[in-house]
Amino acid sequence: MVRESGSCVDVEKKGVQIAQYEIGRTLGEGNFGKVKQAKNLITGKEYAVKILDKKKILAISIDNQIKREIATLKLLRHPNVVRLYEVLATKTKIYMVLEYVTEGELFDKIASKGRFKEDNGRKIFHQLIDAVSYCHENGVYHRDLKLENVLVDSEANIKISDFGLSALPQNLDDNGLLHTTCGSPNYVAPEVLSNKGYDGEMADIWSCGVILYVILTGFLPFDDRNLAVLYQKIFRGVPQIPKWISPGASNLITSILDPNPKTRINIDGIKADLWFKHDYVPAIPEDDKEIYINDDAFFINEETGESGGQGSELNQINAFQLIGMSACLDLSGFFEKEDASERRMIFASNHSSKDLFERIDAIATNLGFQIQKRNGKLKILHQSKSSKNPGGGHVSVSAQVFELSTSVCVVELSKFYGDPSLYRELCAKLSNELGVCKSKPFLTGQEETTSYYVIPPSI
Ligand code: ATP
Ligand code: MG
Repeated sequence: MVRESGSCVDVEKKGVQIAQYEIGRTLGEGNFGKVKQAKNLITGKEYAVKILDKKKILAISIDNQIKREIATLKLLRHPNVVRLYEVLATKTKIYMVLEYVTEGELFDKIASKGRFKEDNGRKIFHQLIDAVSYCHENGVYHRDLKLENVLVDSEANIKISDFGLSALPQNLDDNGLLHTTCGSPNYVAPEVLSNKGYDGEMADIWSCGVILYVILTGFLPFDDRNLAVLYQKIFRGVPQIPKWISPGASNLITSILDPNPKTRINIDGIKADLWFKHDYVPAIPEDDKEIYINDDAFFINEETGESGGQGSELNQINAFQLIGMSACLDLSGFFEKEDASERRMIFASNHSSKDLFERIDAIATNLGFQIQKRNGKLKILHQSKSSKNPGGGHVSVSAQVFELSTSVCVVELSKFYGDPSLYRELCAKLSNELGVCKSKPFLTGQEETTSYYVIPPSI
C-alpha cells in the first residue's frame, strides 16, 4: 500500500487505472520501485510499467548532461533494447511505460538451468553487443549492465532494460546522498570503483565481459562475500577461466576483463574477434525515424495550422524534456500555473493543436483582442481604449501550442507587456474553456492530480 500526502491512489492494487492503462500484477522490484504489468485498455496491448517515486528523485537537481541523456532514451529503437513508449506523471509518481518482456530475467534462466552451451551463449552475446553498440552510437551508456537487466522474450532473444537510466540517481538514498554499497558491484569495472572518472563505453564493455563469463560458466568471474576482497579481485582483472571454455572464448573474455580501460578491447575489436564473428548476423535497428528536438520543434505549421508532413514529428516534445523543464521535477507546477512574475501561464488541453489555434483565435477575438499569426505562434494584442475591461489598455500576449500526443497539448501564454488584469482575464477564459484538468481529470482513481503528460507510442 502506498500512501502519501495529497495522494490516495493505491498503485499496488491490481485493477487501478492510470490514464488508459490498467495496472496488473507485479513483475519485479528494483531500487526505484516496482515494475507492474499493465494493459492498454484501448488497444489491449500489454506493457510493463516502471513506477518511480518522485520523492526519491525530487531531492536531486538534474544537470544538463543528464537531461540530454534521458531525452535520448525515448529515441532508442533496437530489437534487443527494451522500448520506452511513454512517460506518465502524477504529483507523486512517474510511470515509465515499457515494452513488456515476457520470459523474465536471464539471471533466473541461468540460476535454474545452468550455463549456456557455447554456441547458444555466443548468440546471446551477439545480441548484447549489438544492443550496447547501438546505444553507444546514440550517445547512451548503460553504466549498470548486469544479468538482472537482461530480460528474455518469448523467442529466447534478449532485451536490455534500463539503458541510460543510471543517469537517474539510482544510488541516492532518501536524503539524496550517494551510497556506494547499493546494488551488486560484481559487474562494475575497476575504473568505476576507483571513482576517478571513466569512459562509459569501456565501462559497459567490462560489464558485458562479466555477463559473457556468467553465460558460459554459470558463475561470476569476481565474487567474494568480503567486499574488500571482491574489489581486489576486480582490480586484478582477468579471472580464472574454466578449462571447458574454448580458447577463442577464453581469449575474448581475457581481452574484455582487462583492468586497464586503455588496453581493454573496444566494441570494434569485439566485432572483429574470430570467436565472436562465428555465425554473427548483426541486428537491424527498428524503423528509425529521425526525431528532432529543438526549441523550434513544437510549433504548428503556420501556413496550414496543421502538424502534417515533416512537421508532425517535429511537434512532439519528449516527456523527459518536460521533466527537465519543470523545476526539480515538480510537475504539479508545470500545468495550470501562473508563474510569480505573472508573465507565463501554462495549461494542458485535450483539443488537437489545430483546434486549439482556431479556438484561441475565436475566444480572444470575442474578448476584443486582435490576432496575428507568426512563426507558428499566435500573437494576441489589445490596443483598444474601449476595452470591455475597465482597466483595459495595451497588452501583448503570445500563445504557443506544444503537442505532446495526438490527444494532449500544452498551451503556453506569455505576456510581453501590458495590462495584467486584461492578461489574467484572457488566461482564465482560455484555460477554463480549453484546459483539461478542471473539468476532466485524466487519471481515474482518487489521486488528486493536475499534471499529466505523454509521449505517444506513435513516435
Ligand atoms: P535496478 O533498480 O538496479 O534497475 P532491477 O533491474 O532489478 O534493479 P527494475 O529495473 O526496477 O530493477 O526491474 C525489476 C524487475 O522487474 C526486473 O528484474 C524484471 O524482473 C522486471 N521487469 C523490469 N522491466 C521489465 C519489462 N520491461 N518487462 C518485464 N519485466 C520487467
Ligand atoms: Mg533494472
